[in-house]
Amino acid sequence: MGDVDPRNLPDLPELMIAGPGELHQEDLAVLGHQVIAHYGDVWTALHRQTIDDLSKLLGAADPPYLIPGTGTTCLDAGIGNLFEPGQKVLVAQTGFFGTRLSQIAAAHRLEVVEVPVEVGRPIDPGRIADASKGAHGVLSTHVDTATGVRHPIDDIARVARENDLIYFVDGIASVGGELCDVDAMGIDCVVTGSQKGLDAPPGLGILALGERGRDRVEARGEPPPTFYLDLKVWDRYRDEWGAWHPHPVTMPTNLVLALASSVRRILEEGTQAWVAARADLAKRCREGLRGLGLEPVPEPGVEANLVVAMWADDPATIQKHLLTKGIMISGGLDPTMGRAIRVGLMGRTAGQDMVDRVIEGVGEALA
Ligand SMILES: *Cc1c(COP(=O)(O)O)cnc(C)c1O
Repeated sequence: MGDVDPRNLPDLPELMIAGPGELHQEDLAVLGHQVIAHYGDVWTALHRQTIDDLSKLLGAADPPYLIPGTGTTCLDAGIGNLFEPGQKVLVAQTGFFGTRLSQIAAAHRLEVVEVPVEVGRPIDPGRIADASKGAHGVLSTHVDTATGVRHPIDDIARVARENDLIYFVDGIASVGGELCDVDAMGIDCVVTGSQKGLDAPPGLGILALGERGRDRVEARGEPPPTFYLDLKVWDRYRDEWGAWHPHPVTMPTNLVLALASSVRRILEEGTQAWVAARADLAKRCREGLRGLGLEPVPEPGVEANLVVAMWADDPATIQKHLLTKGIMISGGLDPTMGRAIRVGLMGRTAGQDMVDRVIEGVGEALA
């Protein structure tokens, strides 16, 4: 492809991929506001409200961190602040993003013990308990986007507490689309990103601590070897500069505004009702595709709400056909690479009309 003019993009397909989602029209207008100052009365009020709303959404009394970067920025921050080099952690091998958790833990010089998980099946908390001797923590995805399986974070949290493990959850493909109640479920740390279930633009990571996670951050011997991702640095600015500039860096104010607008929509609907609507839509998508002869990757009962993964013999042909209809879906990702299609249900396009168009297009591709 030759030069692309950023002021005049070619026609692009509508997104039904496994993240990001497209913005709701209202949030797009918010994103397009002129740049505003990242300090002062208006900004600090906006920032505080956004943190309060995230706190409600996540059921986390400890104020969540909002850090420019992506979901992975906060995976790095969480693992780097909760654990210290040489500590042993169990990582549930749920797929591509389970592997990423292992890679991040290894980068922080932790001893990684992988706990196997069969493709399509939920993590077995009993296996976590069996492997817990000498371990300091357990890391898992809530939904691994590669398989579209929802894992039982509340059961794992209970086993983690019983075995004195800190439980760290990658909720990037779940928060906003699944229930994730940090304090009620006893999760020690959850991370998400702005661009999946929160229906906002990419560019922000969110990290929430539960009570034991907070204790661990406060009790560590030495600070983590990073300035940007040292949570205590963010605490210090919130505490000492809170009335004016409650963060250590220039915030991407437009991204925060768009996220704030989107999170407000979810809270106005009610998180339970919002998640239930996502579950209904995922079911419509799954059943429609099943009607065409495709089988879901997840076993019954653990199908995720934000990404519908179906086994397919020739995913590339299906994807190509949908592109001719102006719709982009995802193919597989390890361990479903080349063997599955994945339909993302996020943002503006997560509605019945688009889902029906996807089903119709997949049907034509298979015919
Ligand atoms: C998308 C995704 C990530 C990566 O998030 P980024 O925002 O791209 O850093 C990590 N984990 C899961 C489960 C994801 O779905």
